[in-house]
Amino acid sequence: MTTILLIGRVHPRVRQRVAERFEIIEIAKPDPSLVTPEIAAKVVGLASFNAMPAAMIDALPNLKIVANFGVGYDGVDARHAAQHGVIVTNTPDVLDEEVADTTIGLLLNTIRLLPQAENWLRAGEWEKTGSFRLSPLSLRGRHVGLYGLGRIGLQIARRLEPFNVRISYHTRSQRPDVNYTHYPSLAALAEAVDTLICIVPKTPETRQTINRDILERLGSNGVLINVGRGWTVSEDDLIDALSRKVIAGAGLDVFEDEPHVPSALMTFDNVSLLPHVASASVITRNAMADLVVDNLISWFEKGQPLTPVPETPFAGRSDG
Ligand code: NDP
Repeated sequence: MTTILLIGRVHPRVRQRVAERFEIIEIAKPDPSLVTPEIAAKVVGLASFNAMPAAMIDALPNLKIVANFGVGYDGVDARHAAQHGVIVTNTPDVLDEEVADTTIGLLLNTIRLLPQAENWLRAGEWEKTGSFRLSPLSLRGRHVGLYGLGRIGLQIARRLEPFNVRISYHTRSQRPDVNYTHYPSLAALAEAVDTLICIVPKTPETRQTINRDILERLGSNGVLINVGRGWTVSEDDLIDALSRKVIAGAGLDVFEDEPHVPSALMTFDNVSLLPHVASASVITRNAMADLVVDNLISWFEKGQPLTPVPETPFAGRSDG
């Protein structure tokens, strides 16, 4: 019987569908000290929730595949897995539209203060005090820069088009299939735009790249939206920039040390904060769960992962 390890809090659809095909063993966290000799001997696949350190891969000598729940797999040591011939898969495409929808919502919430306006109504202030204040910012006339124009970034850009805003982007390689202006550096993009949407992965190169310099270039009418990873934004520099009104506002779905959110961020009225919910609808999380399980099934039944990550030994192989 093929044995799959489930670790920690698991999406119920993953558990249910894995149980229909495989034997399941569950442990509380990706901690090698929890790997018993039985687990080490039996486990050949696992479903990960963006936490799979090298030591855990080493502790499972028969492991063949790590199926990650999420398109971001920065918590999985994919290089180490590749060196040991272990396949890593993620869940691209199925969440692009949901994350892009949420990004547009967060952008509008940040610029038009919609959550604050709703709180005003719910608190009875509309009746007691009168109309909610005018939002100092508007999407009208904005120039939006996307830091990252991959699967999700492209869906965000497509959604921005009917809003009649200018759209530019920075990536390391220019895309041949879009007409948006490409800037070869993040600094040049930040200088050109007044709205910066961050949707790059967590990699060594993207660490705290949104810093004091970039925020100063964004300028006093500037709005920062981060839906990628908290790692990409220096939270200290952002808090400082907001305090000194270096930029006009920020909307964040992701944070450096989740679920901890720096208390200073909660003190700003021109900041909109979400608890990492960009893909968090029932329909999209079910689709992600299905892709996790379908990767496991496809690997164990056909020897072919559906969506291997680029580092994985399988990526780019068309001969199976
Ligand atoms: P893709 O791999 O399709 O796109 C990544 C984009 O980032 C590409 O345009 C790439 O272009 C660019 N990029 C990568 N590294 C750099 C760099 N050093 N400098 C400039 N640009 C860079 O990923 P997805 O669009 O599918 O997802 C992006 C990320 O969004 C995920 O990795 C995840 O961390 C995050 N995410 C967050 C969610 C949430 O709930 N908030 C939900 C889903 C994803 P190029 O290679 O040419 O530089």
